Amino acid sequence: VHWIKVVVLGSGAVGKSALTVRYLTDRFIHDYDPTFEDIYEDEKKPIVVDDEQYALRIVDTAGQIEDIENSFQMRHIASADVVMYVFSLTESQTLHDLISLKDRIDGMSATPKPSVMVGNKSDLTHMRCVSQEEAMGVANNLNCSYFEMSVASSSRESVDTVFQSAVKLAVDS
Ligand code: GDP
Ligand code: MG
Repeated sequence: VHWIKVVVLGSGAVGKSALTVRYLTDRFIHDYDPTFEDIYEDEKKPIVVDDEQYALRIVDTAGQIEDIENSFQMRHIASADVVMYVFSLTESQTLHDLISLKDRIDGMSATPKPSVMVGNKSDLTHMRCVSQEEAMGVANNLNCSYFEMSVASSSRESVDTVFQSAVKLAVDS
């Protein structure tokens, strides 16, 4: 089995940990330590691309994204096969944060890392302030695949699709 390392990045409270835990356990967590960061090695759910099996090593990051020089994040970003940029559809600032974050990360390596962008919390329709058009436009400019979802209420298949697409992207690049 080949390992694919995906690093989950984004502002605080956008749902990075909830997404990671939902993918791994299909459970939605309401409360999670915002400072918590960990690496999950998932051999139970291999992802198949072109008849090859891939296992995910998911790095759930925390802390200030302004402080990307933070050693935990830097070390993992440098060796990531794919980066998953998460923002919340209920907070425009988290989308703007991603734009500058990706810019800084792409500047760190000779070629930009394969990247996917996730607009989360689509269930909070009354609080939504980023439209799908706006998010897709940004994703397009940043050269990211875009997925819109709710870690709280999207189907297991939609959650799986995000990670499967990330692996495909990593394998194909
Ligand atoms: P992180 O700081 O990016 O890791 O964010 P967390 O995963 O800890 O999530 C922050 C808060 O948002 C938690 O209270 C989660 O339960 C909540 N949350 C995460 N995803 C969703 C979602 O899709 N919908 C709703 N309504 N809440 C969510
Ligand atoms: Mg977290």
